[in-house]
Amino acid sequence: MMAKYTRLRGTTDFIPPQSEILRNTEEKIIKTIKNFGFREIITPILERKSLFTRSIGETTDIVEKEMFSFKDKGGREVVLRPEGTAPVVRAYVEEGIYGRQKFVRYFYRGSFFRYEKPQAGREREFRQIGVEVLGARNPYLDAEIIYLGDKILRKLAITDFTLELGSVGCLPDREKFVGKLKAALGNSIDSLCNDCRRRTEQNPLRIFDCKVEECRKLAENLPSLLDNLCNDCKNHLQKVENTLKELQVPYHLHPHLVRGLDYYTGITFEFQHNLLGAQNTILAGGRYDNLVEEIGGTYTPACGFALGLERILMAIKAEGKKISDGNEVQAFVCYVSEREFLPAFHLTQELREKGIASDLDYSGKNLKHQLKSANRVEAKYSLILGEDEIKKGKVLLKNMDTGEQKLLSKEEVIGIFKP
Ligand SMILES: [Zn+2]
Ligand SMILES: [Zn+2]
Repeated sequence: MMAKYTRLRGTTDFIPPQSEILRNTEEKIIKTIKNFGFREIITPILERKSLFTRSIGETTDIVEKEMFSFKDKGGREVVLRPEGTAPVVRAYVEEGIYGRQKFVRYFYRGSFFRYEKPQAGREREFRQIGVEVLGARNPYLDAEIIYLGDKILRKLAITDFTLELGSVGCLPDREKFVGKLKAALGNSIDSLCNDCRRRTEQNPLRIFDCKVEECRKLAENLPSLLDNLCNDCKNHLQKVENTLKELQVPYHLHPHLVRGLDYYTGITFEFQHNLLGAQNTILAGGRYDNLVEEIGGTYTPACGFALGLERILMAIKAEGKKISDGNEVQAFVCYVSEREFLPAFHLTQELREKGIASDLDYSGKNLKHQLKSANRVEAKYSLILGEDEIKKGKVLLKNMDTGEQKLLSKEEVIGIFKP
């Protein structure tokens, strides 16, 4: 049957067990994040467009091509948030948090939106979890959040990935580098794609995240950002590297890791999955020491990362690992005939009252059908009530994995589910 209404292009319905797998994974990730002292911040999905054009950068792909933007009825330019860092910083400044709390650790989760051609690992609505640490410029902190990223992946049994580590340097480093870059590009500017040619004047660093093959090849031979760092930035990177070694987090130095955002200063990093193809970045971030000031606060150095939940799920699948859907139904109550329906109905409510997740079949069909339903919801046990059981005041407990059956009293049944 043709559906009358279909979901919008680039959006997804998550149906059980996929929805449960997604939430279960999210919960596991957040548990690890909370273990590092982060607290949740919730910001609106709608924001002013100018927040992102200013912070992400006018000449980035996100701002130039991918923002889900429109005018509201009041004529305001609004967007469905394309990323999480700028809104967190906006809230941090707007709510005056920087005035009363110098050092904060926040995490966020939710949907983000980019209007682009949907492909595997790149939907128009996607889910991210991110962390931001505001208020310190300490290389141990950079190392710590990278370590947290590594921990999150390993706790999900993801192992086939590479950590790319780089640094874009401070603003003076970048200005110096732009000069070098233009000189090195020389006449080859003509062989760049239209976007890169146009951006060379304003923001030549963007060439390093251009996806066009010609540009990628050319970029490989351009000067390294790492050779251009001032002493301060060089020492910072060195300390991060040393700490990662101490924490036993393997990494690979990347000469041009600029990421698709302009706000980074200093350290940048990307965890890339080795089996995901073109969209292989599963977790990435860096240091953004000037963003708070840019958004109207006082100088507050900061760093953070975001992970793509859908890509994390793809990585787990690609490695052939399993995630439990966390299905909660433990007991499925069955009735042999219509006469036992009411006792079964009340037993179900009683189990729920005791905190035991339970269900029963409302179709009015026979026991065989009900046991099939129990299998379909993956219940651990079926509790069968027949004339005989009712007479004896007992319940027939059936283990749905082994098929083993036992006649037990209600109290004994409840005891089985007690943790
Ligand atoms: Zn520097
Ligand atoms: Zn290009």
